[in-house]
Amino acid sequence: MTLARRSLLAAAPALAAATLAAPRAARAQAGAGRVVILGGGFGGASAARFARDRFPQLDITLIERSRTFTTCPYGNLVLAGRRDMASITFGYERLAARGVRVVHQAAVAVDAGAKRVRLADGAQVPYDKLIVSPGIDLRWGAIEGYDEAASARMPHGWVPSLQPISVLAAQLRAMRDGGVFVMAIPDNPFRCPPGPYERISMVAEYLKRHKPRSKIIALDAKNGFSKQPLFQDAWAELYPGMVEWRGASNDGRVVRVRPAEMEVETEFGDRVKGDVINVIPPQMAASIAREAGLAAASGWCPIRPTTFESAQVPDVYVLGDATVAAPMPKSGFAASSHAKHAVACIAASLAGRPTPPAVFFNTCYSHVGDDYGISIVGVFRGTPERIVEVEGSGGISPRNEALGARARDFRKLEALYADGWYDAITNEMFG
Ligand SMILES: Cc1cc2nc3c(=O)[nH]c(=O)nc-3n(C[C@H](O)[C@H](O)[C@H](O)COP(=O)(O)OP(=O)(O)OC[C@H]3O[C@@H](n4cnc5c(N)ncnc54)[C@H](O)[C@@H]3O)c2cc1C
Repeated sequence: MTLARRSLLAAAPALAAATLAAPRAARAQAGAGRVVILGGGFGGASAARFARDRFPQLDITLIERSRTFTTCPYGNLVLAGRRDMASITFGYERLAARGVRVVHQAAVAVDAGAKRVRLADGAQVPYDKLIVSPGIDLRWGAIEGYDEAASARMPHGWVPSLQPISVLAAQLRAMRDGGVFVMAIPDNPFRCPPGPYERISMVAEYLKRHKPRSKIIALDAKNGFSKQPLFQDAWAELYPGMVEWRGASNDGRVVRVRPAEMEVETEFGDRVKGDVINVIPPQMAASIAREAGLAAASGWCPIRPTTFESAQVPDVYVLGDATVAAPMPKSGFAASSHAKHAVACIAASLAGRPTPPAVFFNTCYSHVGDDYGISIVGVFRGTPERIVEVEGSGGISPRNEALGARARDFRKLEALYADGWYDAITNEMFG
């Protein structure tokens, strides 16, 4: 018997005892791995927090270029004058205190072969699994004349890191009573399907209170929109005569803008002038996702619906708005739901366990007036081929006519639920 073998045999009972005595720490390390998360918004911050809380064996690095994150949700309430910028802006200190390594740098490249991310300062961050949740870029030039320079005159207010909503809010405050607020709304898919219509509502609430002779003209590149009957009921009830919405078949598609003339032009040549013009242009996955080879020709990133692993690059998981995940909407809630599932899949993969079942949730609340909220809910399943909505699981909140005498209380409750949702999800990310 060799010395080594004799020592091992002699040590065996002690080893077995040690394994039993310290099972948690020892076994937890079994699925250890380096998880790098690129983008600290709804998908990325949710993934970091969930991974840190639930899977202590994982080493988590979050790469986010900004020191603070301003949410798009509740940005429309800044337009109404109900919120200020500070109340929708969050820092990463608590995530760091929880044990997430937070790196405030822009990621400039992903080397999927060597499995590392290159940062703007030249540093390389190695990973075993990479999560990418970088949000969206705007397609400058998709509407003729609408580029970054034009957006200073005609704000989009759609991507806070490009332009804070306060720019649009300032223009609204400066608008004369009796002025025209014009909105150009894109075709699907785009960030937050109900977002433009919540924005119409919050601008209308502000105008009703401060500039009641003013008007909103919403020019839409499609013929229908999320929660349409509920929004239109509310506009008729709360802001009669103030909102004119034109869909694509009513020449609503804006194809050209002339910032110097403060004018937009529609597909069939109608020219519409505005005192304030809010252009929400077509969109695509953010540049880092496209440059990393994660996007298809559409500009969006296909994923495996059962895991959210990229369909194009192994060991990279894409979340949130950047993905092709229809019928799930591009929402913060959806991004957070993708995040939790992707993290669970990564932990399972590193530990050699089977992939957990893919179930996703979304609720989108919209504020449409003072104490007046509406919502849409969906539950989804990932199958190997696609994401499907679970039949009979969701829907939109009832219309006032169906609610009868309960309508006012119901709308008030939905507005309260919306506030609760916002507090809960931002606390889950940054609290
Ligand atoms: C007006 C409006 C209202 C909305 N309201 C709601 C709502 O009520 N409910 C809801 O659920 N959703 C809402 N949304 C949608 C929601 O904001 C998005 O769906 C959500 O932000 C998507 O999350 P994400 O992680 O994909 O991207 P984001 O949240 O945009 O996060 C992306 C992050 O990645 C970072 N990043 C990008 N590139 C790099 C890089 N190269 N290096 C480092 N960091 C990088 C960015 O700085 C950013 O912090 C709304 C959107 C708008 C515009």
